[in-house]
Amino acid sequence: MSHPPISKIVIVGGGTAGWMAAASLSRFVANRPISITLIESTAIGTVGVGEATIPSIVDFNNSIGLDELEFIRATRASFKLGIQFENWRTQGDRFFHPFADYGINFSGVEFQHYFYRLKKNNPTEDLHDYSIGSQLAKHNNFAQPRENPENPLADYSYAYHFDAALYAKVLRELSISRGVAHIDQKIEKVNLRDPDGFIESVLLDNGQVIESDLFIDCTGFKGLLIEENLHTGYEDWQQWLLCDAAVAVQSLNTTEPTPFTRVTALDAGWMWQIPLQHRTGNGYVFCSRFLDKAKAEETLLQRISGKTINTPKPFAFKAGRRKKVWNKNCYALGLASGFIEPLESTSISLIQTGITHLLTFFPDMSFDAGMIAEVNRRHQHEMERIRDFIVLHYKLTERTDTEFWRYCQAMEIPPSLEHKLELFKSCGHILQHEPEAFEKSSWLSIYNGFGIIPQRTDNRIDHFKDADIANQLAKIKQVLDQAGKNATSHAEFIRRHCVAPDFES
Ligand code: FAD
Repeated sequence: MSHPPISKIVIVGGGTAGWMAAASLSRFVANRPISITLIESTAIGTVGVGEATIPSIVDFNNSIGLDELEFIRATRASFKLGIQFENWRTQGDRFFHPFADYGINFSGVEFQHYFYRLKKNNPTEDLHDYSIGSQLAKHNNFAQPRENPENPLADYSYAYHFDAALYAKVLRELSISRGVAHIDQKIEKVNLRDPDGFIESVLLDNGQVIESDLFIDCTGFKGLLIEENLHTGYEDWQQWLLCDAAVAVQSLNTTEPTPFTRVTALDAGWMWQIPLQHRTGNGYVFCSRFLDKAKAEETLLQRISGKTINTPKPFAFKAGRRKKVWNKNCYALGLASGFIEPLESTSISLIQTGITHLLTFFPDMSFDAGMIAEVNRRHQHEMERIRDFIVLHYKLTERTDTEFWRYCQAMEIPPSLEHKLELFKSCGHILQHEPEAFEKSSWLSIYNGFGIIPQRTDNRIDHFKDADIANQLAKIKQVLDQAGKNATSHAEFIRRHCVAPDFES
């Protein structure tokens, strides 16, 4: 039996989630009789952070038809090859998490097995000599990977750092040009329908009532529709992810922007530094049980070298996920769907996959229960895999200098993560449950960065001679060393191709 199609969509919220949804849905509904309205309250405002991304953002921007270089100019963006971790394993230690694979898989066996076999005899071997992302970042250089390169070593990914407010502006202009109606009003009341409790309409500040078939809740942490009205429930993950607060401030650049984010472990959490073309976003993410807001702000300000250009802004949050992102005719995106701290910049990518799930299982008026259950299952799976990846960063620390780090080292971890970690320790195999936001190379970066070396390597490489492995790896190292060194500097790349108009000389 066919059911009537959806004819009205209301998106509530004009932060990154709301405007990403509007930009994507407006393309999806082109030539279909579906209206889209976005309601936001500029008086309430947005969180206004969220400036570092992972490589999937490149696909998202392509999918909505944004020209890459124009997007970079308009959002004063810089490129991101990965993340530099400082003081995480021990004070003074440093490692890099690139968005690029390590080496090449030979004879069906993953590269890390060859690497760890070589490292057994040559303990100074460095995994980062086998990643183009790490090599470019080491020299503050940048190059765009070619499409379908002949050499698999030249195939790598990158992401961006951008100004969140400018990104929302770009998406807003695009969405409105494609017919999205925009209302700037506060929602005063949400009206539920008898007897099934679906959302029927929202009442605005000015008395207007807006009805819709499908409501997309992008109202941030509170989840105005999904939680405050539909009481969907929240799964709390704070026993593994202790940080529940942050303070953020922007500062003028004192050096050319680096093609990577810096995250530095501090006494009760960690600090981010996200360089854009014109300024740096800084923040201290911390656990309020171990540090108060005033001290966090003081620590952050002491560690910033450039002049600050706004007032430090505090945030409070609870790590976890909404028990269902799709409940009745309400679909939650962004912070309304849950939050995992921004250590690996995953929130914007979760908005993106949330949109993909909605488009893949786009409902009709029957709101099919099977499709809804599948979307909720996918969201749970994805959030849990990201949770495990982030928890790994804390669990593997060797720091014992503060109560915060001692707790992290001693805490029990989710069984799904325990299994992955133990498997890698014993035999070097990296378990991945498809689809995961982070590739095997990312897991390898973190294991390796924290000094986890597998006890044995894959049996299938036992017949190779040490000298042959050493020769093959030396060739890779040489190619990547040259490629990293000889590329253009990141700052020069931006100046040549995509400098923001107000910085052009
Ligand atoms: P918000 O930005 O909070 O927007 C909520 C919207 O709802 C607003 O437009 C508001 O006006 C509207 N609204 C609320 N109530 C009403 C009402 N009653 N009537 C009408 N409108 C209403 N993500 C990353 O990917 N990378 C990062 O580096 C990163 N860093 C972060 C750092 C911190 C400290 C935090 C807290 C988050 C970070 N995030 C990061 C997450 C990222 O900021 C969010 O995923 C992103 O901004 C999306 O937010 P949102 O649109 O869901 O919510």
